[in-house]
Amino acid sequence: MINFVSSDKSPCDNEQYSAALSQAEVQKQSIQEVRRSLPVFPYREDLLLAIQQHQILVIEGETGSGKTTQIPQFLMESGYNDGGMKIGCTQPRRVAAMSVAARVAQEVGVKLGNEVGYSIRFEDCTSERTVLKYMTDGMLLREFLTEPDLASYSVVIIDEAHERTLHTDILFGLIKDIARFRPDLKVLVASATLDTERFSCFFDDAPVFRIPGRRFPVDIFYTKAPEADYLEACVVSVLQIHVTQPPGDCLVFLTGQEEIETCCELLQERCRRLGSKISELLVLPIYANLPSDMQAKIFSPTPPGSRKVVVATNIAETSLTIDGIIYVIDPGFCKQKSYNARTGMESLIVTPCSRASANQRAGRAGRVAAGKCFRLYTAWAFKHEMEESTVPEIQRTNLGNVVLLLKSLGINDLIHFDFMDPPPHETLVLALEQLYALGALNHLGELTKVTYCSEEVLTIAAMLSVNNSIFYRPKDKVVHADNARQNFVVPGGDHMVLLNVYTQWLESGYSTQWCYENFIQFRSMKRARDVREQLEGLMDRIEVEVCSSGGDIVPIRKAVTAGYFYHTARLSKGGYKTVKHQQTVYVHPNSSLFEEQPRWLIYHELVFTTKEFMRQVIEIDSSWLLEVAPHYYKNKELEDSSSKKMPRKQGKAKEELG
Ligand code: ADP
Ligand code: MG
Repeated sequence: MINFVSSDKSPCDNEQYSAALSQAEVQKQSIQEVRRSLPVFPYREDLLLAIQQHQILVIEGETGSGKTTQIPQFLMESGYNDGGMKIGCTQPRRVAAMSVAARVAQEVGVKLGNEVGYSIRFEDCTSERTVLKYMTDGMLLREFLTEPDLASYSVVIIDEAHERTLHTDILFGLIKDIARFRPDLKVLVASATLDTERFSCFFDDAPVFRIPGRRFPVDIFYTKAPEADYLEACVVSVLQIHVTQPPGDCLVFLTGQEEIETCCELLQERCRRLGSKISELLVLPIYANLPSDMQAKIFSPTPPGSRKVVVATNIAETSLTIDGIIYVIDPGFCKQKSYNARTGMESLIVTPCSRASANQRAGRAGRVAAGKCFRLYTAWAFKHEMEESTVPEIQRTNLGNVVLLLKSLGINDLIHFDFMDPPPHETLVLALEQLYALGALNHLGELTKVTYCSEEVLTIAAMLSVNNSIFYRPKDKVVHADNARQNFVVPGGDHMVLLNVYTQWLESGYSTQWCYENFIQFRSMKRARDVREQLEGLMDRIEVEVCSSGGDIVPIRKAVTAGYFYHTARLSKGGYKTVKHQQTVYVHPNSSLFEEQPRWLIYHELVFTTKEFMRQVIEIDSSWLLEVAPHYYKNKELEDSSSKKMPRKQGKAKEELG
């Protein structure tokens, strides 16, 4: 039993619509009726007029008011797609792009991928006929590479602008720039009710069009004391709501797939135990990697007499609107990228969400009727421990990729790029330095083209990108799975093992059966192949030759060293320490080098579970560090401090490597 204390009235305001449509009524309505019932509908003409009169317009509206699904349709209906011109609408999240496109195709009455389509990484669901294209913000950025003025678009909608993802922020700068010499291009910046003045200000005081909200009051409850285990607290709260509260669906915010799966399993298990003592509880997960047929389920209406509980990531905060939610459970956490400029390392960590986020989450309970939001933290924590708003991603990320992308768009002066919130100067300089050190930029700051084993490195990069989901280890076949994994071990380290797995899979003709027999996850392999193809395509576009080292593994390991020289660890008496910061780290037990313990290692990433583990390690020769990063390492740092030689099983393998 969790004790909640009542209650602030939520910051939500008006009660414009006195009675909510009951769900059954909504289901009976035709699609057109539903469209007409959305808050944006009465503003159709005013909005179209404003778009006609202004090149850039900021649009603000409560989540669920119809910005994403309706406005592009208004534009189509009034001819913005004439002459085959496209309307593009960006979304920070893949799932949102797919799901919204599917919904709109249905509303328009066309097959998804024909007039209405979507484009996300590795999945292009558009055709020559597509005039309305939903896409991730990253995909539109990529389009700048092939069409720098976006000539095929008549309107670009930067949706969910308040999310301030890295890609969206860069789009702001690029689109503001092209809008100057493309007066015919319409730019709409759409956002939930947050920060809109700032967008207006950035886009030279573009007018803000406000769609009045339809929001019912939401009662907010806090816990009396902090919850030690928020996952368990979620489960208990859902069941508490289910048995004590009137009908209405429930939405739970968690931080990622693993948590969501655990929560769903726990809920299902407890419901099974309660059996027929309680009415039916439909438990539905939603997160980015969920197969799309499963994703669609969250939108299907709840059968009478039962209750739906959707367990979601941040995706349900503003990107997706699920009708019928009356109860929200908010543990107050989200997964956030964070960047440590000192170590140059980026990591995803679970952190308290911001107050702005928490208020958005609460708002999800008040869309169809008055609702309740249960916060699994104290009112004190809300006021004193949470940040006011989320820091834009650009300020907490490694800028290496951004710099590469902008450079490949021919933008050389990054210091003066028009950022809405410029990244910290040091971070930008550090990124430039790193890229220079890596040999990706020359002394003029231009992109370079060096590589001698790109064939293998492409594969390794692709395999690393599907990280940690290659090997399948079912609980009931642990011994078989471990043996199968052992069979892939080759000298050099985990990167070489990944290369070996991929090569063997390729030789099997990309066989599913082969994966099955070798305890390899087919889905991950397919994804690695997609990533690889895409990288190869990019290399082709910038005319970098794909060539193989011909079985010699030294160049491959050197290439990894060149890319990750700042991830070096050295074995000394007490175990491994990172070279620059003397941080104690451990080889992950799953690593092929777990027992060998070579003197020098490069790790792909550090993960903290019970200890600070290095995941995906490769053995290197310390002299390579001076070769590839002379500016970073001094000879002295690389001398072996202990005079006593470490016992080395490794010796033999090393000689074989040459
Ligand atoms: P906004 O962008 O302003 O937050 P949307 O246009 O996304 O609003 O949502 C408008 C309506 O469309 C909501 O009632 C929502 O439930 C519905 N909707 C959106 N996507 C889907 C979908 N995939 N399936 C069913 N309904 C959807
Ligand atoms: Mg939207």
